[in-house]
Amino acid sequence: MCALLAMAVGSGCAAGSGQAPVAAGATGNAGASGSAAPVHGREQGAPGSRGSSGAPEREDRKGEPAGEGGEAGSRKDEGGEGRERAGEPAAAAEAHAKRQKKAQAARAAAAKRWGLPQTPLPAPPPPAEKPRLTTRKGFEVDRHTGLPPVFTTVPTKQKVVFLTIDDGAEKDPELLRMMSELRIPYSAFLSDYVVRDDYGYFEKMRDRGVSLHNHTLTHPYLPALPYAKQQAEICGQQARMEQRFGKRPRLFRPPYGSYNRDTLRAAASCGVQAVPLWAAEAFPDHMEWREWDRDLHPGDIILTHFRGKGEWKGSMPDMIRQVMQVVTAKGYAVARLEDYV
Ligand SMILES: [Zn+2]
Repeated sequence: MCALLAMAVGSGCAAGSGQAPVAAGATGNAGASGSAAPVHGREQGAPGSRGSSGAPEREDRKGEPAGEGGEAGSRKDEGGEGRERAGEPAAAAEAHAKRQKKAQAARAAAAKRWGLPQTPLPAPPPPAEKPRLTTRKGFEVDRHTGLPPVFTTVPTKQKVVFLTIDDGAEKDPELLRMMSELRIPYSAFLSDYVVRDDYGYFEKMRDRGVSLHNHTLTHPYLPALPYAKQQAEICGQQARMEQRFGKRPRLFRPPYGSYNRDTLRAAASCGVQAVPLWAAEAFPDHMEWREWDRDLHPGDIILTHFRGKGEWKGSMPDMIRQVMQVVTAKGYAVARLEDYV
């Protein structure tokens, strides 16, 4: 898949670079044109890449919505803790604090076992109301109104980030154990062509409280496809996931972060509510950043992949150790994406 795409768009898709942040917004009017295609394997905001990538300008962060108000969809479709807060905020906060203290002790022990230099920080209670999501400036398609929002950061003032893992090729049982023991939430965006040889692995993941989302059936470069084919890729994966995992995803991430108006129309037609991209990408030995400041920000979504030692420089636990070292050292907790989106 990578090789094919690399040929198609003339850029690399080697280990460690398959889905680097791209000029997603630029594909809105790029259509199938190769020239404005996303820059595979290159962080869109990386020094030196801006001039030639056709990337949207980066100064839009300050223009992002910071509001916390508004209702964005039903909350009761997801599991998780903290739901009692609606009635008695004080009692709920106390209960949450008690649970967190216990959880944090277990997390500290697990961090030692798994070789993390610092214990991951506990996430604050989820917001009573999900923030209102809007499309990041520069990531809109024509006539975006009414289509699912596309964003790289969730509007929040809390020092939380979100961990998302894509594709599904590597099915390392250690990852399941590690994340459960460390109590680190994450979300998986699955593409059927790499998942189908072992749906059972992802059923176990789901049973551990991980939400599974849509990343197409075969991981194509969607803007090159006509509407009907894009719809078949996205709706087909919705149906497949509902059939295999018992739930129709609400969230969709286009392969390579590449989309156009047809992509969002197709996604909406099959029940997708939001399109989370990413602000940073994690590898076993480094991070890649979308922003010029090469830093985390409240609400940033972190992308990584289900990959093994053959595909990048380490195992899934190595990757988690690396990203958690960065996240914790910068004072962030990993929160559950579905509590906010
Ligand atoms: Zn992918």
